[in-house]
Amino acid sequence: MAVFTPPFCAREHCLHHEPTTHAPYQAYRPWGFYHTKAFGTVPRYRCTACGKTFSRQTFSLDYYAKRILSYQDIVQRLSSCESLSAIGRALDSSTDTISNRISRAARQALALSSTFSSSLHPDEDLAADGFESFCRSQYFPNNITLLVGASSQYVYAADHVTLRRKGRMTKEQRKKRAKLEVRWKAEPGGIEHSFSRIADETLRVYAQGLRSPLTLWTDEHQSYANALTHSPHHAQLLESGFLRHRVVSSRAARTKGNPLFPVNYVDRELRKDLHEHVRETVCFGRNVNRQMERLSVYLLWHNTIKAHRAREGPRRNVQVASVTSEVDREGYKQLWVWRAWRSITELSDSMRETWERLRRTPLTQKRDYLPQYALM
Ligand SMILES: [Zn+2]
Repeated sequence: MAVFTPPFCAREHCLHHEPTTHAPYQAYRPWGFYHTKAFGTVPRYRCTACGKTFSRQTFSLDYYAKRILSYQDIVQRLSSCESLSAIGRALDSSTDTISNRISRAARQALALSSTFSSSLHPDEDLAADGFESFCRSQYFPNNITLLVGASSQYVYAADHVTLRRKGRMTKEQRKKRAKLEVRWKAEPGGIEHSFSRIADETLRVYAQGLRSPLTLWTDEHQSYANALTHSPHHAQLLESGFLRHRVVSSRAARTKGNPLFPVNYVDRELRKDLHEHVRETVCFGRNVNRQMERLSVYLLWHNTIKAHRAREGPRRNVQVASVTSEVDREGYKQLWVWRAWRSITELSDSMRETWERLRRTPLTQKRDYLPQYALM
């Protein structure tokens, strides 16, 4: 391993708790070593400004891990429709260990996405639509709204909401739903609320991007139009013509010429690449937060690792979306080495809910466990 120098102090409220390039952190002293089986001798340090001690492992993506597994391998397998148990069998690990690494990878993915949200300057229209799946049981369907670049198919944002089961049901199924709803009930108006957060992300893309007016394509779902008109910011932008909302019938042919092609495409990819979303799978998600962690990892793979088109060279979706900034290849190498810090990562509401595991899985009472260091 190359010589390590602490990039900043590990204490959140220390004045040296932020990486800087112009004046590298120097206010620390070596503070001994400790030995580990997996990572060898680990150097410790002490901040001379605040007295906090920390080690090289504090900054490692494998902080508190006892075993080294390849993140690239896990991300590739997860995004190639392997179930958690299949990945576990292949890597001789338990599914808990694989889930643990996926959670870590998800936070890296969210941090990278956050970096892109301020460094990409896209020049493309957007399409948004809900991807329908479920978590825990078919009685708890969910809607994951995706905001996708029209020409890049880069996914700018994703938001999750659990919905009430609707549609055709037998008498028995209705009875069972009523019984379950005594214990847990989906919030009404979920789609509109979720879409309003996607609409906020649309504004961020508009502010950061080069396209004006910017067109947002959706289907004719009334909740979408409501969310846009109920927000004063959007209403004003729509009225002044800087933002345009265009709709297409969801029954229109799902061809490449359909303006909703970008979301239809991601929808199809998710359905075939992420095992829990395959129709009739027995490996469906059991926990909403874990499901969103896996989705975040998948979107990292979709956006930055797989080729934009299999027959069109090695360009990634993020490179197609990025007009002015080149994606830093060095950054990728570091992505699976040093962990992202919550304290210095700016997140949207949806990303924060994923990172901090704030969503509630239907029928569960307790909040999901999150290791303390993940909040650092
Ligand atoms: Zn300090």
